[in-house]
Amino acid sequence: MIEDTIPTRRKTVPVNVDGVTIGGGAPIVVQSMTNTDTADEIATAIQVADLARAGSELVRITVNNEEAAAAVPAIRERLDAMGLKAPLVGDFHFNGHKLLSRFPACAEALAKYRINPGNVGRGARRDTQFAEMIELACRYDKPVRIGVNWGSLDQDLLARMMDENAALKEPRDATLVMKETLIVSALESARRAEELGLPHDRIIISCKLSGVQDLIAVYRSLASRCDYPLHLGLTEAGMGSKGIVASSAAMGVLLQEGIGDTIRVSLTPEPGGPRTGEVLVAQELLQTMGLRAFTPLVAACPGCGRTTSTYFQELANDIQSYVRTRMPEWRRQHPGVEEMSLAVMGCVVNGPGESKHANIGISLPGTGERPVAPVYEDGEKTVTLKGERIADEFKDIIERYVERTYKTPGANAQESALDRPG
Ligand code: SF4
Repeated sequence: MIEDTIPTRRKTVPVNVDGVTIGGGAPIVVQSMTNTDTADEIATAIQVADLARAGSELVRITVNNEEAAAAVPAIRERLDAMGLKAPLVGDFHFNGHKLLSRFPACAEALAKYRINPGNVGRGARRDTQFAEMIELACRYDKPVRIGVNWGSLDQDLLARMMDENAALKEPRDATLVMKETLIVSALESARRAEELGLPHDRIIISCKLSGVQDLIAVYRSLASRCDYPLHLGLTEAGMGSKGIVASSAAMGVLLQEGIGDTIRVSLTPEPGGPRTGEVLVAQELLQTMGLRAFTPLVAACPGCGRTTSTYFQELANDIQSYVRTRMPEWRRQHPGVEEMSLAVMGCVVNGPGESKHANIGISLPGTGERPVAPVYEDGEKTVTLKGERIADEFKDIIERYVERTYKTPGANAQESALDRPG
């Protein structure tokens, strides 16, 4: 008999990032990163707000110089004034110890510090600067992400591990040693952070690479060696479909194995394009895998020679946009609506069948078919649309379905109060 494939999540300690729990079985958290100059507090606050409104539950900002560190508290205040609570994560390289100690308001305003062990400092300074950052995290009671990256691997550690490998009777392949160095760098840094006083449940780990198979191999191994929550992401994923496919392929495999407690899709936006695309992709990845629900998804057939008009493609697009536009209000008024499924299908071959599987589906007429469009709600045909207003009438049907299926919080209590005599 076939078995359910929903993965069992790997057991990890929960880490509280200013009210957002990462790990410990909590829903997998979607996060993103800005690409504005953090010193430009207005532009950064606007982009963080865009990302948060798109659904990013944490937003990382680079804190690379004094101007950026000075702007962080003002960015936090602007977000608070907009009613946006998304915690800010500070991304530090090279000078984080100095910035955090010189700008206490920045250290306080950030909800988490990302520390890259490969970029903390060289030689003897590495240990002291790393210790300074951890002491600041302890002082301000902030969790940290030990974020190792293939492109900025700790060179001292790599040299040591390469030497150890070379001394073996049968040395291992150099690329395997490099991957092992990523993991050792993360785990040794986490152990050191705990020795310095950072609690075990204040540490998240990531080991990012840009190759799909490399990422899968490293995270599988990392996951088997610790119980820290893991931040998942393919670094330098790239643009457009390449970035989406590579990220989804790598993270999809790991998520299916229960590995990953927070994800970021590192997409390069089109020039001038919105930064929020990475949030949408992360949400859709989790939702299509059945791990979380964010927005009703519209299933649509790809179209073929049986439907030569573009009408059904336009309708599928129109309905997906409509649903996204309506979500902010629906989310407040109709809890559970994010689970709703919709289908827009191009002809009679698969149209009625797929439409019946969705909560609401419409099967449009293919070439040569009668110009009518049956609509199905929870598997039953409820109406047949025709004429010029199919799109508007279908949206009305969706609105009525949402209204009666996903009740406004408190509506049941009010209804029963009205039902009571006297
Ligand atoms: S539902 Fe019809 S139009 Fe759509 S892909 Fe299948 S056969 Fe083609």
